[in-house]
Amino acid sequence: MGRRAMTLAEIREYAWDRIETARTKVHYHRLVSPELCSCGRAWPCADKRSLTAEIDHYQDRLARMEAEAAAVPVLSRPVTILGILRGEAPLLDVLRENAARLGAKS
Ligand SMILES: [Zn+2]
Repeated sequence: MGRRAMTLAEIREYAWDRIETARTKVHYHRLVSPELCSCGRAWPCADKRSLTAEIDHYQDRLARMEAEAAAVPVLSRPVTILGILRGEAPLLDVLRENAARLGAKS
């Protein structure tokens, strides 16, 4: 069976699934007395810690994916490789324009 790379939408959906599942499970681990988890173990129990770490991990990944998606350069004018090679659109100028546009956006 061949494996194909996941699309961004699939990765996002997977991360949200993991977060939702972990949130549902972590609900069963609450502090019930000064040092006791509702599952009967010492607070915070191993499950509480690993589920919380999993939620943090996937939320962080989602946040980084959103930041990277927002930083994808957008060309302000059509540029072809041939045009760049001919010097019609010097690459550095294009990159500088994009940097200025991205800077202006935030
Ligand atoms: Zn617990």
